[in-house]
Amino acid sequence: MKTYHIITIGCQMNKSDSERLASILEKNGYRKTDNKYKADLITVNTCGVRQMAEDRIYGLIPEIKRKNKKAKIILTGCLVNRKDVRRRLEKYVDIWMMITEMTNDKFPMTNQCQISNVKYQNDYLKIVPKYESKFSAYVPIGNGCDNFCSYCVVPYARGREVYRLAKDIVDEAKNLVNRGYKEIILIAQNVNSYKSGKIDFADLLKQLDNIKGDFWLRFITSHPKDMSDKLIKTIAGSKNICRHIHLPVQAGDDKVLNKMNRQYARIDYIKLVKKVRQDLNDQFPIFNDQKNTKLKIQNLWKQPVAITTDIIVGFPGETKKQFDNSAKLMKEVKFDLAYIVRYSPRPGTAAFKMADNVTKLEKKRREEKLMEILRKTALDNNKKYIGKIVKVLVEGKDKRGKLFGSTETAKVVKISNAPCNDKLIGEFADVKIIKVMDFGLEWEIA
Ligand code: SF4
Repeated sequence: MKTYHIITIGCQMNKSDSERLASILEKNGYRKTDNKYKADLITVNTCGVRQMAEDRIYGLIPEIKRKNKKAKIILTGCLVNRKDVRRRLEKYVDIWMMITEMTNDKFPMTNQCQISNVKYQNDYLKIVPKYESKFSAYVPIGNGCDNFCSYCVVPYARGREVYRLAKDIVDEAKNLVNRGYKEIILIAQNVNSYKSGKIDFADLLKQLDNIKGDFWLRFITSHPKDMSDKLIKTIAGSKNICRHIHLPVQAGDDKVLNKMNRQYARIDYIKLVKKVRQDLNDQFPIFNDQKNTKLKIQNLWKQPVAITTDIIVGFPGETKKQFDNSAKLMKEVKFDLAYIVRYSPRPGTAAFKMADNVTKLEKKRREEKLMEILRKTALDNNKKYIGKIVKVLVEGKDKRGKLFGSTETAKVVKISNAPCNDKLIGEFADVKIIKVMDFGLEWEIA
C-alpha cells in the first residue's frame, strides 16, 4: 500500500484543506505515515501570508527530496501560482496543484480515482474531511476573499468568495455533534460576509446554535466592517456560541488603515468593540437571567467576552506617530490576545509596490512595544478569573504530562495539582482557576 504525508503551514483554512486532501488520498488507497522520509507521496500545503512562512519551504522541500528520492512531491496552498516560487522549486516539485483543482491528471493515482469531478470550489468543500481531532472540528463555510487588503495575498491565492450551502454546513455540524464532537469551528476568510440565498451569517449561526447537544461553536475570521448588529445580537442570545470574538484591527491609525484598504476608521473599530462588549456582557437581560440561572445551578462564572486581534507593525510609510496610534488603540481596547506581526512585502499585492521603508530593527522595536502592552492588558483581563469556576474543554497533555485545555473565551488553561486523567481529554470539565498569567490560566478540578 502506498503511503502519504501532509505538511501543513499556515492558517486554519490550510489545516482544514489538508483534512480534505487526506480524506481523498485515503479513499484512493493511500495510508498515512508520520515519516516524511519514507512516504511515497508528500503534499506541502503552503502559506504565503508572511515571508517567514514562505521561507520554510525553501529549506524543507529540497531536504525531503534529498533524503527521500523516490517520493512524489505535491505543492499546494497559497504559493502554488507564484512564478518566482515555481522557478525556485521546479526541480524538486512533481505536481503543482490548487486545492480546489484536485483532478485526476494532477494526482499520481494508480487505482480508480474518486476525485475527477472535484474542480470547483464548492465541490471541494463538499469532500468529507478526515478530521484530525476526535472532539474539535474545523468546518469551512466558504473560501476566498473579495476585500483586497493591500498587504494580503489571499484574494490572489484563493480567488473570490464562494460560500457553501447552509444546509450542507448544518448537516456536517449535526453529524459531528451526534458523534460527540464538543467544538465546531466555522472558518472562512471573512465569515461575516457569508451568504447562502437569503441566509446570512447570523441566520446560519442561529441554525447551528439550535442543534441539540452540549457543544461550543466558534468562528474565525471576522472583518470589522461586516460585523452587523444582527450578528452581535445573535451571539448574545445564543446557547452554544463562544464569548470570544477575533476581530483583526491591523492598525490603529486612519491613514495606515486607509493605505491597507481596510475600509473602516479607528473610531469605527473602537465603537464596534464597545458594542460587542456591552451587548455580550450586559444587554439582553431576559436571556442573561436565564443564562445566569443556568450558570448558577452549575456554579459557573459568566466570563466576559474576550476580544483578540491581528495587528501589523512597520507597514510601508508607518511613521512613529502613526505607530503610536496603534499602541494607544491597544491600550484602549485592552485585548485578551493579539497576533502582532512585522510587515513583510508579499509579491503580487498592492502594498508590494510601496517602499518597505521601516527598518527591520524599528519593526522589531515596535513589535516589542505592542507585546509589552498586550502582556499587561491580557494579565489584567485574566486576573478577573482568579477563584472562579469555569467550563473548560480539555484538549490534551503537555510535554510534562499535564492536562491543558481552553475556556470558551479561548484562554489556555493548564492543570496544576489535580490528578491527571486521560479520560478527560476531549471532554468538558468544570474547573477552578487558581492562578493567572499574561497568556494563560492554571486550574484545578472543581
Ligand atoms: S479580509 Fe483582507 S486580510 Fe483578510 S483574507 Fe481578505 S484580503 Fe486578506
